[in-house]
Amino acid sequence: MRIYLDHNATTPLRDEVVAAMVHALRDAFGNPSSAHADGARARREIERARERVAALVGARPGGIVFTSGATEANNLAIQGLARGRRARGRHLVASAIEHPSVEAPLAALRAEGWRVTRVPAGPGGCVDPDALAAALEADTAMVSLQWANHETGAIQPIERVAQRTRALDVALHVDATQAVGKIPVRLDAVPVDLLTASAHKFNGPKGVGFLALAGEIELEPWLRGGAQERGRRAGTPNVPGIVGLGVAAELAARELPERAARHAALRDRLWDGIEAKVPHVLRNGAPPELLPNTLNVEFTGADADVLLEALDGEGVSVSFGAACASGARQPSPTLRAMGRSAAQARASLRMSVGLGVDDAQIDRVLALLPDLVARVRAVDPS
Ligand code: PMP
Repeated sequence: MRIYLDHNATTPLRDEVVAAMVHALRDAFGNPSSAHADGARARREIERARERVAALVGARPGGIVFTSGATEANNLAIQGLARGRRARGRHLVASAIEHPSVEAPLAALRAEGWRVTRVPAGPGGCVDPDALAAALEADTAMVSLQWANHETGAIQPIERVAQRTRALDVALHVDATQAVGKIPVRLDAVPVDLLTASAHKFNGPKGVGFLALAGEIELEPWLRGGAQERGRRAGTPNVPGIVGLGVAAELAARELPERAARHAALRDRLWDGIEAKVPHVLRNGAPPELLPNTLNVEFTGADADVLLEALDGEGVSVSFGAACASGARQPSPTLRAMGRSAAQARASLRMSVGLGVDDAQIDRVLALLPDLVARVRAVDPS
């Protein structure tokens, strides 16, 4: 059986999620906008999911907008908010380590004449909240900052940033795709205005996610058409996907502390073993400012692409960065922004644990790694 250590790319579905989705596919096939009982049935399923998602992130159910995933939610948040807040100014602030689904909408706005200030990450992978506050200007319309980084797992100082943005009435968008389901993320505890997440990162289905809005925010729709999702997102909603997201959210809310502890123990077992058995390794990012499930390691002098392939051949799935960037063979932008050299970034692998991973699997990886790393280093001693 394969050993899957790439839970930050995507996760396997929980059985409860699959069962609820099959049920919805068969029985809640109606169009939730229809006036008849079949429509009402689908509508009820969606509203139940909305409540579950809202409970997970401490939001009002009415503030949840279902989307096709975090990419769409990030586009809706950034483009929708920027255009809705045009009067305020045409300046945006974001970190230098955002996901491509934040980078690309920012680039689109820049091409239209918006100014974008980037705030660097420190060597541990976190943004300095004082540096971010210093980047705010009188005409700043929005700050976009991830809750946790997809590559290193570095948890950003959202609370401190949120206090500053709230005091200055600057809108704060947080891409919490990697954080939701792994660490507490709550809009009723932290004054974030818009929050993005995706079901497939916490044992739900792919192709469904949400944008959570904390208040009455002027947001221009990104997908235009019908009046679904209170006019914020047109299109017949993905009922089975939303039902699956709802169940995944409920399970995550209930199990979060236990999951975090289990994943941190597996992650620490992996790092302790690597440090003990493999010479010349460095950890990218340092606890406690790290997601409990994520380990990013530089195997100095080894080509991470070749190591990834070698592990794959042994039945172990890992990643050398964001899944979306795989195949591009560019050194990780996150690690480069943290001050690593291109060679260091090319020697780094991400291993992320989750549902189904156990001690025996970690030990199997630890038994394989010393020899594989030595072989890869011998091929490419640069
Ligand atoms: N933001 C982050 C931080 C992510 O890790 C991802 C998924 N790689 C996304 C956004 C995009 O999510 P989705 O796959 O739902 O479009």
